[in-house]
Amino acid sequence: MSASTFDHLACSACEKVFDRNQLLNLCECGSPILARYNLPLAWDKLSLKGSTMWRYREVLPVYNDANIVTLGEGMTPLLNVPRLSSLIGMPNLQIKDESVNPTGSFKARGMAMAISRAKELGVERVAVPSAGNAGGAVSAYAARAGMHAFVFMPKDVPKAFITECEMNGAHVELIDGLISDCGKHVAANKAANGWFELSTLKEPYRVEGKKTLGYELAEQSGWELPDVVVYPTGGGTGLIGMWKAFDEMEAMGWIGSKRPRMVTVQAEGCAPIVRAFHAGTLKAEPWVGASTKAAGLRVPGAVGDALMLTALRTSGGTAISVSDEELLRCAKMIGETEGMFVCPEGGAVLAGLIKLRDQGWVKPEDKVVLFNTGSGLKYLDVF
Ligand SMILES: *Cc1c(COP(=O)(O)O)cnc(C)c1O
Repeated sequence: MSASTFDHLACSACEKVFDRNQLLNLCECGSPILARYNLPLAWDKLSLKGSTMWRYREVLPVYNDANIVTLGEGMTPLLNVPRLSSLIGMPNLQIKDESVNPTGSFKARGMAMAISRAKELGVERVAVPSAGNAGGAVSAYAARAGMHAFVFMPKDVPKAFITECEMNGAHVELIDGLISDCGKHVAANKAANGWFELSTLKEPYRVEGKKTLGYELAEQSGWELPDVVVYPTGGGTGLIGMWKAFDEMEAMGWIGSKRPRMVTVQAEGCAPIVRAFHAGTLKAEPWVGASTKAAGLRVPGAVGDALMLTALRTSGGTAISVSDEELLRCAKMIGETEGMFVCPEGGAVLAGLIKLRDQGWVKPEDKVVLFNTGSGLKYLDVF
């Protein structure tokens, strides 16, 4: 018996079904594969226990508790920010502070889950292309699981990420290019080296870790979701994960049908989802010449593009881009008003919110949650 109600895997596009014990990357049709559950309809949300994301154990895919690889990720604070709120005239603003996760970013959620499942399925060597935080997280969880991690990063990533990976014993290779070039390198070499690929949404479990953002948001908001969620979007795992969590919680009777309007914020130098959203297309063309100081947003092409665009549109949300100057200025504004040293991506969501307020798209009374996805400490050379 397992506490997990994980039942099977299914393609997010063609609905092809797979056994849950298969080790899989993308579906043959090229789309992400997602985990499906026999949702526990009698599970009482008041019986949740533990102070990590594993309090949602029943709707997480790890089967045997012995395979859980954890450093204490999740259950991060959802903070009121009264000084920032009054400065920008948004009295019902909150920040979910993901910088306090192990490895300093929300990548810990996804990698804890992916590495736990990889362990469960007998994987010994994992490889990932990373803009920084994914590499740090995979190196940490792989070390803790006794696996070998191979991390490929653009050679101009902030230095802390390289040091972090090396200190955690990962094999690091710096590539002259973008994260998409790192991804090509992993894809071309994985078979020969026996690596299991953990690229964003190219395996089913990182998104299951990230979906706990949605569970926590609901629980910490008294099971009443906010009006607007603003998310700094690269590969979109958190956005897609939260959207999935909302549906699961509604199916279990934990929340009603109300959804937040989901907002993607990207950098002006790399905004493929913003462009596709406003063009009304179902998929996003890769961005040419991607450039931004917010490393986590420098993702020119995302395999989850269709899923993201659906979530944004179904929720009545939107997508907006901000300049590097704006996002760095807003990171400082959060530090000065609330004492949170946020990552550039955390600054980006505030910059996006201010623009949407100026456009009248958000109303002053809206209940808004910003995601600070990581710590500023790893970006000292950027600031
Ligand atoms: C990876 C990352 C992002 C983007 O997350 P996705 O879920 O891939 O869109 C945002 N901020 C930080 C700090 C990141 O490391």
